[in-house]
Amino acid sequence: MVEAKYYHKDGDELVCDLCPRACRLGDGDEGACFGYTHLDGKLIATNYSRVVTAVYDPVEKKPFFHYYPNSVILSIAPNGCNLKCSFCQNHQFTAEKAETKEINLQTILEYSGKSHSIGVAYTFTEPLIWPEYLVDATRKLKGIGQKNILVSNGYVNEKPLRDVLPYVDAINISVKAMRNEVYEKYMEGNADVVLNSIRIAAKETHLEVTYLLIPGLTDSDKDIGDFIDFMVEVNKDIPVHFKRFFPHYKMTDIPMTPNETMVKAYKLANQKLSYIYLIDTDIDGVSDTFCPNCKRLIIKRRDYQANLGGMRGANCKFCGHRINIKF
Ligand code: SF4
Repeated sequence: MVEAKYYHKDGDELVCDLCPRACRLGDGDEGACFGYTHLDGKLIATNYSRVVTAVYDPVEKKPFFHYYPNSVILSIAPNGCNLKCSFCQNHQFTAEKAETKEINLQTILEYSGKSHSIGVAYTFTEPLIWPEYLVDATRKLKGIGQKNILVSNGYVNEKPLRDVLPYVDAINISVKAMRNEVYEKYMEGNADVVLNSIRIAAKETHLEVTYLLIPGLTDSDKDIGDFIDFMVEVNKDIPVHFKRFFPHYKMTDIPMTPNETMVKAYKLANQKLSYIYLIDTDIDGVSDTFCPNCKRLIIKRRDYQANLGGMRGANCKFCGHRINIKF
């Protein structure tokens, strides 16, 4: 049994300090993310080394477009999440108790390099509800030259985030809205916390950001414009992925994001940001990389495969501009 790193006592209760939900747990109670239980005066990380899935995936699928293109990575996930998104596409793993299997530190070392994998992606659910395992696993993997990448909702307190980031080679943080009221009503979260995590991560590791376009909730010119301006303020060279919304789980009354909205977001962002992509569309060219300096096509993508014909090392082969990309 592994004791949690982030909690304090308050009378007979324990208060979890990992994320802003600050769950108060009496003896035997479990946190809202399923990751922690109060047992006899200690908070126990019951999710330590327990995974709901383990598959080898292309890094482009996470999505990471500027991190070791054309690589495969072992992708694992704990059961649970600290946000409660009404539209979650993985709700069977995030919102419900699912069967888990153990991947201990020895096993992860064995499997991280198989099938040409470059390391481990902590993804599908919320990896930052797993800091005890994350730090132990990432340290071991770093020791054998393997990569550790996270796909996160960014809804975490600052201290644990700063503790974990030194071991993380890349992170994709998902912004599901720019307004707190949308986060509160549909996700039980808060936009300010997520945006703050982006500001911190941008200084610590390779960062890519995903923005979810939900019709009527996050797709107005004002919301998209606010997101773009925020990214300009953080760093305009951070790759940005606009993601299509699909009606799912408890939110089936809102339609799929139409192509016109996806294209609108692309065009608005293209005026200010260096690398913009549309996810879950078959529109030609919107997953390709264009040099921000000379505007030539440098990376062509299709079906999670990237053709790097316009690159020379990490530079544009046409004008020599340094691209924000890791190999
Ligand atoms: S990490 Fe989990 S247990 Fe801790 S406060 Fe957040 S939801 Fe609650």
